[in-house]
Amino acid sequence: MEKRIVIIGGVAAGPKSACRVKRLLPGAEVTIIDQDNLISYGGCGIPYYVSGDVSDEKELRNTSFHMTRDESFFLKAKGVTARTRTRALAIDRKNKTVEVEDLNSGKKELIPYDNLILTTGAQPNILPIPGADLDGVFTISDMHKAIAIKERIARGEVGKAVVIGGGAIGIEMAEAFTDLWGIETSILEFMPQLLPRLVDWDFARMLETHLTESKVNVYTNEGATAIEGEEGKVKRVVTANRTLEADIVVMAVGVRARSELAKAAGLAVSAMGNIMVNERLQTSDPAIYAAGDCIEVKNMLTGKGGIAPMGSLANREGRIVADNIAGIPSIYKGWIGSFIMKAFERCIAATGLSLDAARAEGFDAAQATTAQSDRAHFFPTQAVIPLRLVFDKKSRRILGAQGFGPMSDAVLSRIDAAAAMISSGATIDDVSQLEMAYAPPFATALDALNATANVADNLAAGRLRYIEIKDFLNWMDDFTANPNWVALDIRHPNEAKIFVEKYGADKWLSVPYVEIRERHQELPKDKTMLVICDAGTRSSEIQIFLDHVGLTDNLVLGGGFNVIRRMGLTWWPS
Ligand SMILES: Cc1cc2nc3c(=O)[nH]c(=O)nc-3n(C[C@H](O)[C@H](O)[C@H](O)COP(=O)(O)OP(=O)(O)OC[C@H]3O[C@@H](n4cnc5c(N)ncnc54)[C@H](O)[C@@H]3O)c2cc1C
Repeated sequence: MEKRIVIIGGVAAGPKSACRVKRLLPGAEVTIIDQDNLISYGGCGIPYYVSGDVSDEKELRNTSFHMTRDESFFLKAKGVTARTRTRALAIDRKNKTVEVEDLNSGKKELIPYDNLILTTGAQPNILPIPGADLDGVFTISDMHKAIAIKERIARGEVGKAVVIGGGAIGIEMAEAFTDLWGIETSILEFMPQLLPRLVDWDFARMLETHLTESKVNVYTNEGATAIEGEEGKVKRVVTANRTLEADIVVMAVGVRARSELAKAAGLAVSAMGNIMVNERLQTSDPAIYAAGDCIEVKNMLTGKGGIAPMGSLANREGRIVADNIAGIPSIYKGWIGSFIMKAFERCIAATGLSLDAARAEGFDAAQATTAQSDRAHFFPTQAVIPLRLVFDKKSRRILGAQGFGPMSDAVLSRIDAAAAMISSGATIDDVSQLEMAYAPPFATALDALNATANVADNLAAGRLRYIEIKDFLNWMDDFTANPNWVALDIRHPNEAKIFVEKYGADKWLSVPYVEIRERHQELPKDKTMLVICDAGTRSSEIQIFLDHVGLTDNLVLGGGFNVIRRMGLTWWPS
């Protein structure tokens, strides 16, 4: 008899496993069970459906050749039986059956399996605050929620929105509300920065500045303490500092694995409720596999387990499960945490560990930041992309990368290249020498990623000394914090002029890059000079020269003004 493979969960990991296993074992009897009537949709596209960029929800369920991935498609095109509106109630591991209930008829039955795959996903967290159950408070967990939100907006019922949670989903939803619909939107983030733990505070601040410029109100360090309503409908969100009016509230405060079935069946789950799997994505029962948001996966950098709720990973894991069931030994090595998101005209991306996360994990980590052109500086569409590499000072291993830039593939390509390097254990030297494709319309001859690794190399070897951006900004807020510091602005005098006028020639020296060699004797010997240019590159060169002539008390502002000018600074002279 051919293998009977039953899959519980039909969105990302489930259909991927089903289709792959059917390609490898064409005779297998493959059944997908899902309690929802909508399956195999691109959940990551939900914000773009809500915004209107994607006009019809069906587009998220369509193939690239315009067929809708429904029961009929799975049966006819893939030979897979998809049973929607069917809930799995219990797993009988001894008899290898799943008890299911048809949610339309209420009929229950047992479905036998040789292999079972759990792809039950994750469910959104709901904050335990008053008013969380009011009409108009949404989590974004499935297509139905997205459809309901869009219908409200289309009916003209939403003038003001509050998004609780400054992670990727919350920010994407805030953009969806603001950009096309013109809804007055606020984001509340409990932590001091957006995208906490994913990127460092300065990259988060560049994002926050752009969101603010795009008319989204961002309140960090501020959690919702209550949601208030009238006649059962949401009206306001309350924090310790303010009350925000709201016709709709989106709660995007993380997810947790949906593992009740697994737990009830006696499968191993972690203390956090994640389904435990081995490298082949087999659960503690060898006949049962699991993939996607419901499983515990190992972070390859920290060795720690946790959930990694990403559609990108769910698809990869789904394939690995199918391979193993079909007899192809396939290993899931773990994840490093790559992500990218659009925010209006910008994108932000990261892979691996942020500097804060790396230090919190016990690494003796440092960072190198550049802000160089994404393509040849003479090419018309060139743009500056701040990039950061986080590395371990001793081993020189690359631990993470972050990028911020315009909505193009420029940041994506660097982060993806860094991700490949990080997951293979690369060092600064490996990234420095990584052969990147080049032609002027796409990159620079020495790519921005290579250049960032070169900066890391110089920092690690002590050939370059940085002032931390945070310290520089503190100094700009209060010069008395470090009375011995002075800015050495090596940009064109026209650029430096407004700073000299505002802060005085004793605090802001303007000596252009090309004149430093002949004018270095004018520079102070009793001050710490903070060398500033646009990208940090010229400053690094000047630091070497200053050291050479004995003016060693100097520090370079990594990433230069190209980074900090994107951070919405109040002290910037106008
Ligand atoms: C708004 C939004 C934007 C996102 N953007 C991105 C992005 O840009 N990039 C990215 O990588 N990821 C993104 N994600 C995450 C991505 O969508 C998820 O990681 C992915 O959908 C997980 O797939 P999955 O198959 O593991 O589980 P899910 O998609 O959660 O599907 C699980 C399915 O199992 C069903 N199920 C559960 N229990 C039972 C049961 N007992 N019986 C029957 N059926 C059951 C559920 O009803 C559900 O349909 C986004 C998510 C959201 C919500």
